[in-house]
Amino acid sequence: MIHLSAAEMAAKLVAGETSSVALTQAHLDRIAAVDTDVHAFLFVNTEGALEQARAVDAKRAAGEKLSPLAGVPLALKDVMTQKGVPTTAGSKILEGWRPPYDSTVVTNLKNNGIVILGKTNMDEFAMGSSTENSAYGPTHNPWDLTRIPGGSGGGSSAALAAFEAPLAIGTDTGGSIRQPAAVTGTVGVKPTYGGVSRFGLIAFSSSLDQAGPCARTVLDAALLHEAIAGHDPKDSTSINAPVPAVVKAAKSGDVKGMKIGVVKELNGDGYQSGVRTRFEESLELLAAAGAEIVEVSAPNFEYALAAYYLIAPSECSSNLARFDAMRYGLRVGDVDGASAESVMNLTREVGFGREVKRRIILGTYALSSGYYDAYYGSAQKVRTLITQDFNKAFEKCDVMVSPTCPTTAFKIGEKSDDPIAMYLNDIATIPVNMAGIGGMSLPAGLAPEDGLPVGFQIMAPAMQDQRMYLVGAALEAALLTKWGAPLLSMAPALVVK
Ligand code: GLN
Repeated sequence: MIHLSAAEMAAKLVAGETSSVALTQAHLDRIAAVDTDVHAFLFVNTEGALEQARAVDAKRAAGEKLSPLAGVPLALKDVMTQKGVPTTAGSKILEGWRPPYDSTVVTNLKNNGIVILGKTNMDEFAMGSSTENSAYGPTHNPWDLTRIPGGSGGGSSAALAAFEAPLAIGTDTGGSIRQPAAVTGTVGVKPTYGGVSRFGLIAFSSSLDQAGPCARTVLDAALLHEAIAGHDPKDSTSINAPVPAVVKAAKSGDVKGMKIGVVKELNGDGYQSGVRTRFEESLELLAAAGAEIVEVSAPNFEYALAAYYLIAPSECSSNLARFDAMRYGLRVGDVDGASAESVMNLTREVGFGREVKRRIILGTYALSSGYYDAYYGSAQKVRTLITQDFNKAFEKCDVMVSPTCPTTAFKIGEKSDDPIAMYLNDIATIPVNMAGIGGMSLPAGLAPEDGLPVGFQIMAPAMQDQRMYLVGAALEAALLTKWGAPLLSMAPALVVK
């Protein structure tokens, strides 16, 4: 049962061939069997999940009309608050914190009857590309346990690839949904900024953070997208407009006459040869499906990474000031006579990891009065230029495409001492966040040289998210015909068979 897609699981529930309790228990059993090796989860909410499942089964038995994914289990990135459930954002500083409220994403999941299995591992405060920055130890890629599952949402992507959950929630500030999807052979979507509420999403960089669906198929991602998206008065940047019709698009997959723009600057030098091979092959399949392939240029993408590493740390230095040892989680040095300042210092010293401290220092520096214009101000101007590049390119095409990442999954430990090498993983995903538009990654096959998954990225204009699903569904269908089986069925190391 755990190998089915979420849509297939939902159909079995509707047909009465299984129950949500049985489905949930099957996934809890799978987690118990494989998660000591994978370490996708920081907390498994056995009782809470079964209770939710029982409630859905009871409603179904009573003949209530349920939403499409009712009764299907999901893994939740630990950056989302869930009332009463331990929430750490991968940080020691939040150890033991149980939020007093649900994030809007969680409220929406609950209202749709989606069963939350537990909280998934992540880089501390979503800063990283490998999940090695988690204070609770790394997650392992189910394709090869010695490799990274991507980051920051490596727990969510690994849970999908190891069949511990058919659906997951991720958040994407610079690529943390799409890059983990790419290196685990799964699907990840960063919706248009403002498309999914940020209320209860523990903030890293507020102008870039966006929650989105992670799944094993394009249709499953679309079903989850529609379940979590929509206007939320509790988030002032939430868009008050109808949710794009992504399920309809995922079911259609008709790309005849669509113009697909290949970004000249996001290919070539620095991209692994097998990544390029699979990318080119995907373009041919899309052309065969009736799309027109054109080349587009985005000259300012070259500066996106540098600008991101000023804007994101600047915003994080401000956002993370709230972890002051007074309000949440950890408190260190609280002895008689200690000042609030010394408790704050000691707690932040012990509670934050190296990468988080690096970014707080970087951001504080970039925002300081003498350097504000030179660094933060310039980065904001670059951000505008990147948006203009997208606007110009979208005059010539309906979606833009590129490889999701320059390489396949690297080894755990390979880049952990080299922040710049780590940052370069997001070279192709960051422009999307800078412009606030949508981006999807889906599997394009295995790189011939190492047999590891390659991701294909699709980018669409703001609030045109359905276009990514059209193109994603077309490519997924063409690749399925070519391979004869879904990519994940080819994973050699999938821990437990
Ligand atoms: N890897 C990028 C970073 O470290 C992006 C992270 C994310 O999207 N949350 O900032």
